Amino acid sequence: MDKVCVVVGGSRGIGKAVSQLLAQKGHRVAVIGRNLDVATTAANSLGASHVALSCDVSKEDDVMKTFKEIQKKLGSINYLVNAAGINRDGLLLRTNSEDMVSQLHTNLLGSMLTCKAALKSMFQQQGGAIVNIGSIVGLKGNAGQSVYSASKAGLVGFTRSLAKEVAGKQIRVNIVVPGFVHTDMTAGVNEDQLKKIIPLGRFGEPHEIAKAVVFLLECPYITGHALVVDGGLQHTI
Ligand code: NDP
Repeated sequence: MDKVCVVVGGSRGIGKAVSQLLAQKGHRVAVIGRNLDVATTAANSLGASHVALSCDVSKEDDVMKTFKEIQKKLGSINYLVNAAGINRDGLLLRTNSEDMVSQLHTNLLGSMLTCKAALKSMFQQQGGAIVNIGSIVGLKGNAGQSVYSASKAGLVGFTRSLAKEVAGKQIRVNIVVPGFVHTDMTAGVNEDQLKKIIPLGRFGEPHEIAKAVVFLLECPYITGHALVVDGGLQHTI
């Protein structure tokens, strides 16, 4: 049977590829991003049974309102994917508190708020699956990304703990941990330099991360798991 899926950050990059794969599988998708025009274009490209909503996940009121709206439009939520994220790279000594707060609020608090909002619906149906998106730098660390890494490391602990909290209701919570992926987020990085340290010798593509996300959404006996999808990068950094 088709599932109701919420893809936060589904308007671009990795989240957009996840939305496309879920729609191809016959599920109904709510595509979420701050920019409604971009989210609407992404949702329209999936077909008629999908919706777009504008939401800033760092704001609790906005998240609560948006999730109520999704349930009104599509029904109870079965799958949630948290792919919204931002980076404000720089050495800690040069990072101001505004940039610290915006990364933590979008990447970590935002995922907590959306999980809380979706769980209400999942508890009622006694089932569901959530996949958060971490980052390899959250596991291994990277100079110039201390705050971003902290937000992603926090997401691993959050995912593993929440998985234990809700397993009794047959709700699964996992995290996909990508390496470098071709999206807007990596548009400015030195790809030639970085791909030398990736055993597979290239960046990943959004659809390759989406496959791992959908695998974790569907696999009924995996919870609390961090799945690294990085072309082998974790072994060289
Ligand atoms: P993109 O910049 O391509 O897309 C980010 C998405 O998140 C957009 O849809 C954007 O929409 C949405 N978004 C950003 N901030 C908010 C917000 N406050 N509220 C709601 N939506 C928001 O990024 P990627 O696809 O590359 O990244 C997806 C996830 O993967 C992120 O969590 C990122 O940290 C992680 N990741 C990415 C890697 C990479 O190499 N690309 C590597 C490892 C992890 P809008 O701007 O309209 O709000």
